[in-house]
Amino acid sequence: MGEVMPTVFFGHGNPMNAIQSNVYTESWRRFGHSIPKPKAILAISAHWYTPDMAVSGTPSPETIHDFYGFPRELFEVTWPAPGSPDLAEHVQKLLLPLSVRFDADRGLDHGTWAVLCHVFPDADIPVVQLSIDERKPPEFHYEIGQLLQPLRDEGTLIVGSGNIVHNLSAYAWGNEHVQPYDWALRFESTVRKLMLEKKDRELLAYRSMGQDAKLSVPSPDHFLPLLYILGLRRENEQVSFPVEGIEGGALSMLSVRIG
Ligand code: ZN
Repeated sequence: MGEVMPTVFFGHGNPMNAIQSNVYTESWRRFGHSIPKPKAILAISAHWYTPDMAVSGTPSPETIHDFYGFPRELFEVTWPAPGSPDLAEHVQKLLLPLSVRFDADRGLDHGTWAVLCHVFPDADIPVVQLSIDERKPPEFHYEIGQLLQPLRDEGTLIVGSGNIVHNLSAYAWGNEHVQPYDWALRFESTVRKLMLEKKDRELLAYRSMGQDAKLSVPSPDHFLPLLYILGLRRENEQVSFPVEGIEGGALSMLSVRIG
């Protein structure tokens, strides 16, 4: 058995990051250089949030432009990484007896490609996505992470993509450098502290963290990918934060690396 592959949560933020070069995209690029080249990637993105659990088994996934109102340039980006029906089947087996629908058509959403196009610009590593079952409580997503643990020993990079603070109605569009809201800063720093102290149970109970949590996580989709990554953390593994920052007052760009 070789080296254990690290695992990572990326705060993906604004889709425009796909075509920009900034402190976030630079950190994503550095992350790619800092790990052994993965054999494959399994991505859990906020933007594949479904009423069941599904895995993408597409041999050549298309680049999905799942956003509106952005410049044409962004809609023209493609990131042609191959898929891996084999990895998709392997994930199905690992999660048995849970049932995971095999989706033979699904492409890659922007939570996945807009980050990975910086991490792996060559697009030569197969990528599979696992959807987030929207019916399930936080503990379920954490436990799925735990079940995926063997993939790390097989050279697969598991990536979560969302945002720890994600409130688009408070987001200052066009004014990304505005001072963060106090509730955003407080919630992000609480989550960060709990991760450093490995208080996973308290993190799973994030909904009981009062008004700061309500404003920071108005819907669970962007927070849940983090829980898969926390479920993958092994005894004595370090957690680190390759990049931090809050954009538009209400969007945390914090990345979390484990291992
Ligand atoms: Zn998003």
